[in-house]
Amino acid sequence: MIDVGIIGGGPAGLAAALRLKARGVPRVAILEREATLGGALLTSPRRIHGLRRFGRLLTGPAYAARLTQAAQAAGVEILPGHEVTALRPHGVVEGAAGGAASLFAARRVLLTGTLLPVAGHLRLNSGTGGPAVDQYGRCSDTAYFATGTLAGRAGPGESLGAMAGDYIADDLSGGLPSLDGRLEVLAGQGLRGVAPHWLAHVAPLRGWLEICPAEALKGQLRVRAGEAVLYRRRVRAHPAQRLLINLNGIKTPPDDAQLIVEIVP
Ligand SMILES: Cc1cc2nc3c(=O)[nH]c(=O)nc-3n(C[C@H](O)[C@H](O)[C@H](O)COP(=O)(O)OP(=O)(O)OC[C@H]3O[C@@H](n4cnc5c(N)ncnc54)[C@H](O)[C@@H]3O)c2cc1C
Repeated sequence: MIDVGIIGGGPAGLAAALRLKARGVPRVAILEREATLGGALLTSPRRIHGLRRFGRLLTGPAYAARLTQAAQAAGVEILPGHEVTALRPHGVVEGAAGGAASLFAARRVLLTGTLLPVAGHLRLNSGTGGPAVDQYGRCSDTAYFATGTLAGRAGPGESLGAMAGDYIADDLSGGLPSLDGRLEVLAGQGLRGVAPHWLAHVAPLRGWLEICPAEALKGQLRVRAGEAVLYRRRVRAHPAQRLLINLNGIKTPPDDAQLIVEIVP
């Protein structure tokens, strides 16, 4: 069985695969629908990529090709022309390659990009539209992880993918806290969405919440558990903006509490 199957060979999937191999995960595979890996990088003709990783400026397609070669050299199994069509419980993935149906099983599966293949069994986050995830990107079926836009996170796919690779490597070695006694995070007044959708219950809480305001407004951004306000700050919010709340230092509420995040005028 594959250790980690990554759906999508864009910057997030490639960076996650490289990080997983660097962390010593034996079998990592990327399933990519297109013939060429790179995702959004393939549409970027300017020489603005690759300085940090390869020490020179490259076009998006050239950078994607170098990342793909690096992944192959690290031992990542690359399956281009392989479209994932459905996700089944416990890391079983249905797909199609060269006109034939395929079935693929992995201990963990990472979802990248924007397209969520038919995933009837994964709980969704009504605010972000993607799968509901915890602070590590772990889905309701804990064989699945999601990163980037799908997980309600903004930022360069490559950094988010590398971070997802680290979390999955931690998980495979038993290093992530259990999702039992998790805290649900709900978008309240003034918000379109909040990610992650729940938090594995660890004390002290770490990481951050990422918030999409519903409209332009000024007010107090706050996190509460019932009537107890755990965090507050004044904000001027705009719907195109993402606001972050650093969870470090927020008092950990009791097991199974619901955290409401809201902006009150
Ligand atoms: C011009 C431009 C330049 C950019 N440059 C960078 C950069 O240098 N570094 C960076 O980190 N981000 C870059 N981005 C960032 C970009 O905005 C996202 O952060 C990034 O594309 C998200 O990466 P991703 O791998 O999650 O998604 P994508 O790039 O969208 O890749 C997703 C991949 O999944 C594949 N896929 C989709 N559905 C399926 C399926 N069902 N089965 C199998 N495969 C599937 C797609 O074909 C695609 O290759 C750039 C964006 C643009 C528009």
